[in-house]
Amino acid sequence: MTEQTYEYDRQDATGATCTAHAWAKVPAPLTPEQRRERKARAAELLKQHNAVLVAHYYVDGDLQDLALETGGCVADSLEMARFGRDHASQTLVVAGVRFMGESAKILSPAKRVLMPDLDATCSLDLGCPIDDFTAFCDAHPDRQVVVYANTSAAVKARADWMVTSSCALGIVQHLKDAGQKLIWAPDRHLGRYIQQHTGADMLLWNGACIVHDEFKGTELELLKAEHPNAMVLVHPESPESVVKLADVVGSTSQMLSAVIHGSAQEYIVATDNLIMHRMRQLAPGKTLIEAPTAGNSATCKSCAHCPWMAMNGLQGVIDCLEQGVGEIHVDPVIGREAVNCIDRMLGFVAAHPSALAPRVQGMVRGIGAA
Ligand code: SF4
Repeated sequence: MTEQTYEYDRQDATGATCTAHAWAKVPAPLTPEQRRERKARAAELLKQHNAVLVAHYYVDGDLQDLALETGGCVADSLEMARFGRDHASQTLVVAGVRFMGESAKILSPAKRVLMPDLDATCSLDLGCPIDDFTAFCDAHPDRQVVVYANTSAAVKARADWMVTSSCALGIVQHLKDAGQKLIWAPDRHLGRYIQQHTGADMLLWNGACIVHDEFKGTELELLKAEHPNAMVLVHPESPESVVKLADVVGSTSQMLSAVIHGSAQEYIVATDNLIMHRMRQLAPGKTLIEAPTAGNSATCKSCAHCPWMAMNGLQGVIDCLEQGVGEIHVDPVIGREAVNCIDRMLGFVAAHPSALAPRVQGMVRGIGAA
């Protein structure tokens, strides 16, 4: 494996996408009465506009509940895009981060896609700007370009393949077996995990998720010692020292599944802590423990919560439907190019369903969509 060092800023020129800006825009906590009123108003507007709410596991619990109570979905990024594409509604409200709204628009270009806050982005997306990425790809024309879902429409348009965690192993193995050398972007931890399992020749972009990057292996070892019977669930965007301690390496949906079906009573969870809202609903009685993020270098307030996901709130759903703000636009030319790498992935998955099978090492190991 060759590792490419690539420095990037975590904000755009205006600072509008930095984490401080995101935290400043996180909606203030609501009283129980305000929550009830706003949920009812948002539900009414969804109905009036024949719109459907598609939410990620990492957004506010009230938004997750609203999505499920109004016929929408709470899911990982791939399932969110598929659900939005296949739903009859012509207006999709995507509660998540910008690349999720863009993916929905790419897959459903005729639909109106709204988001509670268009400033909600992702460090992986931010860390892979199209001009630099194009230059990087152009410098290695002999390599197939494989990008993770957490990228902009423009980066997807430059890629040969898009992958989610669920099919990354299968697709990379397929490309390796065909003699291909690869560029992988943007998450270096997931790229390393895939490379270790496939042995593929991968040139890795040096991006990271600011939430998962903060989990600490040394602190996790101490926590495990305090809870020797706990099953440790780790998202593969986490550092290698953390992944090594996992019983289950999996996507949001597979971590959820592990808690629902696992025989353990206690679970240490290394991903955004808002996933616990759905875990508590689907696995009541199980004990959930946040994996430790403490450390001097922590950049996300050691909170295990994504500041951009946190920007999504009930008022944002109301505003985008009432005022028509927060609409996602994707340049149609870029959208038509970007859809190719997504369709290639979907075609591969349809033709090779076994590529989605979890890897079994020890207990349950496998990864699904982010
Ligand atoms: S949790 Fe990480 S990967 Fe997900 S949106 Fe936030 S920064 Fe991006």
